[in-house]
Amino acid sequence: MARCYHRAMTEGRLLPEEWQRGPRYGGAYTFARCPPSRDLSRADVAIVGVPMDMAVLYRSGARWGPRAIRDASGQLRPHHWEPDKIEPPFDKLRVIDYGDIEVFPGYIEQSIPHITQSLSPIVEAGVFPVVLGGDHSTTLPVLRACAARHGTMSLVHFDAHPDFWESPPERPYHHGTVFRRAVQEKLIDPAASVQIGIRGSLSAGLIAEARAAGFRLLTASEFAAQGVQATLEEMRRTVKGPVYVSLDIDSVDPAFAPGTGTPEVAGLTSREIVELVRGLRGLQLVAFDIVEVAPAYDSAEITALLAANLVYELLLVLAEGR
Ligand code: MN
Ligand code: MN
Repeated sequence: MARCYHRAMTEGRLLPEEWQRGPRYGGAYTFARCPPSRDLSRADVAIVGVPMDMAVLYRSGARWGPRAIRDASGQLRPHHWEPDKIEPPFDKLRVIDYGDIEVFPGYIEQSIPHITQSLSPIVEAGVFPVVLGGDHSTTLPVLRACAARHGTMSLVHFDAHPDFWESPPERPYHHGTVFRRAVQEKLIDPAASVQIGIRGSLSAGLIAEARAAGFRLLTASEFAAQGVQATLEEMRRTVKGPVYVSLDIDSVDPAFAPGTGTPEVAGLTSREIVELVRGLRGLQLVAFDIVEVAPAYDSAEITALLAANLVYELLLVLAEGR
């Protein structure tokens, strides 16, 4: 990971390595060549991998998500996407790659509290966590760490699935129960939360339950009918206070994001999800995760590349807010 340190050592501040220094595909990979560090006193944002996929109901493989997203991030250049604002996001935002949090394969009951414990120092230090999953069960322990500091939060949730299924109390954790648990534990306020992109062979009962709980749930068809701008306006009307953003890559159509465990057809385009993430500008964001990237099912790395770009778009949003 040596190639990240040149500017850091000369300026006393941790910065990404120059993107033109050496080939962008060379060296050990951190996210977008950000410095590998756990020094929270010198960071505004920490990229954190959670390589866990014990809780899937269908195809496993999201444990390789953090690695695939970091690999795909090598192509990113440190420029702003708006042509009149070309300053690199890293001038305003000190971003470190915190590495991966330890999980215990086969032992989800031990892994989940360990993830919360590992995230808490980041959250308590006031550093913004950007979590690379992992299947969607990754989100629950991150929500717990964030709620301990911020209280009950609003949720902006992009997904093909509401992840609001019930499960027996003796087996509370799988990747489709996350937001049911989060509501029960008052980690999120469903009345101030949106779910966008819901589709597939879901029961009408499940969607009705999520709506009855208070979620503003937009199916993929409803989203397609009203478009990005109306959806963003609706999101802004709904959320309040601290906002947690959870992005399941299967919200995107498998034509654009095949590398995931539970693909559902007729989803969002890559352009639409990019515009939705850009539309998070101005909200009181407190954490972001991107989950369910499973590179074994990917094609030409397009899913991992999209995920890396979505993280980057989020960093640009955070930089702009400073
Ligand atoms: Mn999900
Ligand atoms: Mn999903």
